[in-house]
Amino acid sequence: MKIVNKNGQKPNHARYRKVLEAKAEEVRRSMSAQKAAQVVARLDVPSDEGDLSQQHHEEWIFLNRNTIDMKLLREVSDALHRIDQDTYGICMECDEPISAKRLDAVPWARFCVTCQELISTRIADGELVEYQEADR
Ligand SMILES: [Zn+2]
Repeated sequence: MKIVNKNGQKPNHARYRKVLEAKAEEVRRSMSAQKAAQVVARLDVPSDEGDLSQQHHEEWIFLNRNTIDMKLLREVSDALHRIDQDTYGICMECDEPISAKRLDAVPWARFCVTCQELISTRIADGELVEYQEADR
């Protein structure tokens, strides 16, 4: 008999779901806080060229930071989707279970440590730009 809870999920998955949902909430909040900060910053209309380029620089930082948040948010929601599909915690590269230690550190991990290192090396070598899921 399989060990499942009332929702038919593995108990660990329910725990990771909570962690992931909290993380998604945290990222969303951080993103809207940044948006609010940007709106406030925009109220200061730049008076000369120097201020303008400074503002461009700040916008670039803002966009860059937001891109990282967006990416993380997507990783987290993909992980939640994998819990729904019951494929959570399985390496997408070698189909081996990802260790609990790794999932505790990175709950949205797609790959086991071995595959992640291989992929990182391939990205560093310029062989891969970014890992894309095959079914997209
Ligand atoms: Zn793997």
